[in-house]
Amino acid sequence: MHTVFLGGFMIARKLRQEDMVWSFGGATLVGVCIATLIQKENILQALQQMFVQSPLFFFAFIMLTEPLTAPPTKLLRRLYGILTGILFIPQIHLGTLYFTPELALVIGNVFTYLVSPKQKVFLKLSRKIRMAPGVVDFIFKSSQKLAFLPGQYMEFTLPHAHPDSRGNRRYFTLASSPTENAVHLGIRFSEMGSSFKKAMYRMDGRTPILAAQIAGDFTLPANPRQKLVFIAGGIGITPFRSMLKYLLDMQQRRDIILLYINKTVDEIVYKDVLSAAQSYLGVKTYYTLTDTAAVPRNWFGFVGRINEAMMLQVVPDYPERTYYISGPPEMVRAYENMLKDMAVKSDQIKKDFFPGLT
Ligand SMILES: Cc1cc2nc3c(=O)[nH]c(=O)nc-3n(C[C@H](O)[C@H](O)[C@H](O)COP(=O)(O)OP(=O)(O)OC[C@H]3O[C@@H](n4cnc5c(N)ncnc54)[C@H](O)[C@@H]3O)c2cc1C
Repeated sequence: MHTVFLGGFMIARKLRQEDMVWSFGGATLVGVCIATLIQKENILQALQQMFVQSPLFFFAFIMLTEPLTAPPTKLLRRLYGILTGILFIPQIHLGTLYFTPELALVIGNVFTYLVSPKQKVFLKLSRKIRMAPGVVDFIFKSSQKLAFLPGQYMEFTLPHAHPDSRGNRRYFTLASSPTENAVHLGIRFSEMGSSFKKAMYRMDGRTPILAAQIAGDFTLPANPRQKLVFIAGGIGITPFRSMLKYLLDMQQRRDIILLYINKTVDEIVYKDVLSAAQSYLGVKTYYTLTDTAAVPRNWFGFVGRINEAMMLQVVPDYPERTYYISGPPEMVRAYENMLKDMAVKSDQIKKDFFPGLT
């Protein structure tokens, strides 16, 4: 049981589905207690049966967290967890129909299907622009207009010969704004890349790529007066490109400070949109380079990783702001910890991880 719990917990954490698992566990726990009290049974025995003898942990950590059947936003994932958690309780029944874990999962999947965006489109490449070493902006024409919020991502399927063990599907943030006709993807390539990335790199206008499952909560807050800080590491700039382009096109000013971290100056991408947002929307933009040996002599920005001193200098009103952090997982965690050390509350921090990138 310990192994299932520990292994499962790590899977849920990696897939960033812990909140769904806790919602499921909470609903099951409360439900079992209520059902046992109503039926005047032994509560300790019921809980022992639930946690030790039932497949609860396997169900919660492995079955529930499957990305293909999980709903697209945090709130919906929590509701999915609560729904399946209630149906998992052995005492729950509709007349003579008693729910089993399998039935709970099927009903959960129907819920996901009903609440998920169904749009699937084939995108045709119209242009590839090399923006930086190993970073390409793919510009696609879509067969129909995509309905999404700036900062959201989609799942892309690119069939190709001899796929490696990582398969032919990847998630990418839509770097474009819904106000644009073209769809932009900003993609980073490694030297020893996956078969997917190699196929993507070779793509031309004849190979369509399938885009589906618009999802994500890394989107602008509903309140336009909320003061924000965007922290982007490398290719983690893509959701911010989408949001800033949207605000530019909508001519909507918001109080935003953007901190953009790269190793070297030539890794900075989407400079056109960032500069326009700075000029026309007053977005305060600060760049920092972490490869101290490669900083150009005329460099105008900061040098080194963002630290507390830098934050105090550029975000003097830091306790009042909401933080959006996007980039490789270690970077996101490091800045989240830094902010927490500065007493910024968890609910003021939104994160967008790009797993697979270092
Ligand atoms: C919500 C979300 C949004 C995202 N948005 C973006 C985005 O906008 N832009 C972006 O670039 N990425 C984005 N990503 C990440 C993207 O989905 C890929 O996971 C990432 O680009 C890595 O791609 P890859 O697995 O093809 O590996 P690669 O990029 O090809 O390689 C990454 C590393 O894995 C190693 N590697 C490659 N293949 C193998 C293999 N077969 N076995 C062992 N090691 C291997 C490489 O040597 C390299 O070190 C996003 C991810 C998520 C979840």
